[in-house]
This record gives sequence, C-alpha cells and structure tokens, in this order.
Amino acid sequence: MKLILLGAPGSGKGTQAAYITDKYDLPHISTGDLFRENIKNKTPLGIKVKEIMDTGNLCPDDLTVELVKDRLNNPDCKNGYLLDGFPRDIPQAIALDEFAAPDVVIEIDVDLNKIEHRITGRRSCPKCGGSFHVDFIGNVDKCPTCGDKLIIRKDDNPETVKERLEVYQNQTAPLIEYYGKQGKLVKVNGDQPIEKVFEEVVKVLG
Ligand code: ADP
Ligand code: ADP
Ligand code: ZN
Repeated sequence: MKLILLGAPGSGKGTQAAYITDKYDLPHISTGDLFRENIKNKTPLGIKVKEIMDTGNLCPDDLTVELVKDRLNNPDCKNGYLLDGFPRDIPQAIALDEFAAPDVVIEIDVDLNKIEHRITGRRSCPKCGGSFHVDFIGNVDKCPTCGDKLIIRKDDNPETVKERLEVYQNQTAPLIEYYGKQGKLVKVNGDQPIEKVFEEVVKVLG
C-alpha cells in the first residue's frame, strides 16, 4: 500500500502515522524528520535548508524530491510506504507520480483556528519521532514512548505558525483538488480525539 497523509501543519499527520505504520507495517517517511536529521548531522543538505525551515517556508522542490526518491529506493519500501509531509506542492506531486504514484491520499481535515494551539503545545522526540501535546502529557521533558528528552521544535512558535499556515493554503491545499481529480483522496475529520481519527483511517484502509 502506497499511502500519503495530507493536512495542515499540526493537523495530526505524525500522530496518525505512528498508529498507521504500527498496524499496517509500513515505513514512515516524514520529509520534515529527514530534513531535521540532516540539520542535526550538519550535512551539506542540512546546512542548505536550515534557515528556510526556521522561517516556515518550503525547502526547494529538487532537493526534496531527490531526498524522497533516495528513501523510497530503500528495500523496506518495496511493499509500500507512508509519506507524511510530502508532497507539499503540485510540482512535488507530479514528480512523485512519475516514480512511485500513491494508491490512497488521506486528508486530515482540521479547523485552521485550532492549529496554533496544537503546534505551540507540541513536544517532539527527536529520537523516536514521537509527537505529544502538553494538554495530554503535561509539562514533562521525558518522551512517554522511549524516555529520551523531548524538545520544542524551533519552528513551533506563533510567528512561524502563521507563515506555515499561509504556505499550506497557497502551496499545499491545491493538492486536495489534484488527488481528488485522480479519485484517490479520502477526507477524515481531524477535529476528534486521536483514537477516533484513527478509527476513521482504519475504515478507509480496511
Ligand atoms: P503534524 O505531523 O500534522 O504536524 P502532529 O501529529 O505532530 O501534527 O500533531 C500536532 C500536535 O497536535 C501534537 O502536539 C499532537 O499531540 C496534537 N494532536 C494530534 N492529533 C490530535 C487530535 N486528534 N486532537 C488533539 N490534539 C492532537
Ligand atoms: P509539520 O509537522 O508542521 O507539518 P514538518 O515536520 O512536516 O512540519 O515540516 C517542517 C518543515 O520542513 C517545513 O516547514 C518545511 O520547511 C520543511 N519540509 C518538510 N517537508 C517538506 C516538503 N515536502 N517540501 C518542502 N519542504 C518541506
Ligand atoms: Zn521518544
């Protein structure tokens, strides 16, 4: 199964991805995580994209497409994948259609007014990729999943959230129509408790 999770920043893609990859045994490919790993390791790619990511803009399409192409060539992707955060604009979707077109695109639909609260309360685990919210775990600094130290991502602040939402509306939201026309898009209601959202996803995927 080749699956894409589409949705605004903070809509719950990473959270649902953890449940989905566990149940359906798919590799979780998050371009945001891949970029952050490159930044942490100070690779040439990481050095190129750091500033762009800090401001909430999109990294260049050619670099992003290359990164995903490389990752999908890994043997663990031969039975399918779960893409989280890619594609993020029409040129990326066209490129993906040329080398590994998806079967299903799940759009996590959320009220955009709730995004700032979700993102500013997010606590992330760089080690296991876990994503949590202070509303649920309180102000702890240990990852509930793996015990490592939780961080607040540099781009998870109110100013950058505004920019990221604009980028989403201008560049990413057109993908809803793109995949709708291909008959691949399924919308789930992301404004429900995490388990309920996952129930809807399971109904789609079977
Ligand atoms: P994305 O990967 O789309 O940016 P995340 O999965 O990291 O989003 O979720 C963003 C924040 O919202 C996290 O703090 C997460 O714990 C929280 N969250 C995710 N899903 C829900 C939900 N259904 N209801 C409330 N909060 C949620
Ligand atoms: P969120 O969880 O808020 O949706 P991500 O972790 O997916 O955020 O992405 C964080 C940042 O990484 C983006 O703001 C952008 O700068 C960069 N990025 C991630 N995926 C892509 C992509 N497919 N194309 C371009 N830039 C990307
Ligand atoms: Zn962890």
